[in-house]
Parts: sequence; C-alpha cells; structure tokens
Amino acid sequence: MPIYEYKCGDCGTVSEFIVLKQDEEITCPLCGGAKLTKLMSAHNTASSSGSSMPDFGGCCGSPGSCGTPGGCCSG
Ligand SMILES: [Zn+2]
Repeated sequence: MPIYEYKCGDCGTVSEFIVLKQDEEITCPLCGGAKLTKLMSAHNTASSSGSSMPDFGGCCGSPGSCGTPGGCCSG
C-alpha cells in the first residue's frame, strides 16, 4: 500500500496519504488547500523526531569511523 507524505503549500502541514493513482487528487485535511508537495521519505518514516539529522551512531560526520557516538571526538 503506497503511502506518501505531502506538505501543504498553504499552511505547511505534512500529512500522509494513501495514493493509489499517480494523479490522485488530494487536499490538505487541515485547510483544504490543493497545493501539496510530495515529500521524499526514504528511510525516516518511522522517526518522529522531525530532525533531518541521520541517526547512524557515528560521530564527527563520519559514520562508522569509531563505532561509538562521540567516542573519537570528545575532548
Ligand atoms: Zn493546508
């Protein structure tokens, strides 16, 4: 079941829609606006943090460099 996230261009609300057809007509459940932009949700759908920071457990910007968060960049 294809579920996509769309962001309303009017109020900025992000909602999930079950899109069965490519040209399915969807509107914002909050304000009823039709200017919805499809969001790319590759791997962060289950996260509710809302942050764009990937949680890969690495540190210093190099995932897997030390295996421990902050292990190689503390101090
Ligand atoms: Zn809206």
